[in-house]
Amino acid sequence: MNLTRLVYYSQRNPSMDLNMDELLQVCQRNNAPMNVTGMLHYNGNYFLQVLEGGRAEVSSIYHRIAADPRHVNIILISCQDVRERIFPTWSMALQEGLDGETREIFLRYFPSNAVNPEAISTESLLDFMQDVSTELA
Ligand code: FAD
Repeated sequence: MNLTRLVYYSQRNPSMDLNMDELLQVCQRNNAPMNVTGMLHYNGNYFLQVLEGGRAEVSSIYHRIAADPRHVNIILISCQDVRERIFPTWSMALQEGLDGETREIFLRYFPSNAVNPEAISTESLLDFMQDVSTELA
C-alpha cells in the first residue's frame, strides 16, 4: 500500500450552514476505519487540510470532500507518495481560532495573523500545520 499525503485549501461557502463540531465528528468517524489521518485548519474563511493514508483511501475521501457544497474554490496543492506521516495519531484534528501561542506561529509564516494559504508555498503550509499541531497535542 502506498502512503500518500494530500494537501488542499478552500473557502467556506457563506450560503451553507456549517457546524464544525459535527463536521469533525463525521471526519473522524469516516477516516478512522480507513486509517486516514490528518489535520484541518479553519479560520472562519479558509480551510486548509492535510490527509494522509493509503492512496486509494485518501483519493476516495478527497473526492467526497471536493463535492461538498459547504466549501468552494477548492485548490489541490499537493498529492504525493511519502515515506511517513506527519500526523499519524489523529483521524482528523481541528485547529481553529487564535490565541497567544498560535498567534506567534501564524506570524512566523504569514504577513499577518490572518491565514491566507495562497500567500505561501506548500512546504511552508505543511510546516505551519505541523507547528500549530503542537498546540493541539
Ligand atoms: P453524513 O452522515 O451523510 O453527514 C453527517 C452530517 O454532516 C449530516 O448530519 C449533515 O448535518 C452534515 N452534512 C453532510 N453533508 C452535508 C452537506 N453537503 N451540507 C451540509 N451539511 C452536510 N469527510 C470525511 O469523511 N473525512 C474528512 O476528512 C472530511 N473533511 C472535510 C473537510 C471539509 C473542509 C469539509 C467541508 C468537509 C469534509 N468532510 C470530510 C465531509 C465530507 O465532505 C462529507 O460530507 C462526508 O464525508 C459525508 O460522510 P457521511 O456520508 O458519513 O456523512
